[in-house]
Amino acid sequence: MATRKLSWWVRVGDAGEYEPFGTLSEAADAIRDTVRGGDGPLQRYIGPALRGIEFGEYRGNNGISLFRGDSDAQFSREATHNEMLDVFGECGDMHCTKESE
Ligand SMILES: [Zn+2]
Repeated sequence: MATRKLSWWVRVGDAGEYEPFGTLSEAADAIRDTVRGGDGPLQRYIGPALRGIEFGEYRGNNGISLFRGDSDAQFSREATHNEMLDVFGECGDMHCTKESE
């Protein structure tokens, strides 16, 4: 058994609340449900107070936090390229080339 429970944490917009999800797929579904009509473009975003993505109208420091972290929402890691492709169909990393996808 793991001694430290890791979750995927989501916070939509800087006024949102952090919510934990057991899988990245569930986190992505919650983001899509919240960002109505938000069909992209999806981009990675790393700011002073945010590690996650920009999606729909949520941009910059009002973007969407999305990361793996412990039970106190302490950052562990971001989603990998393949994980992003699995749940969003795009990686969102401007440095990724289409060839590698
Ligand atoms: Zn990528």
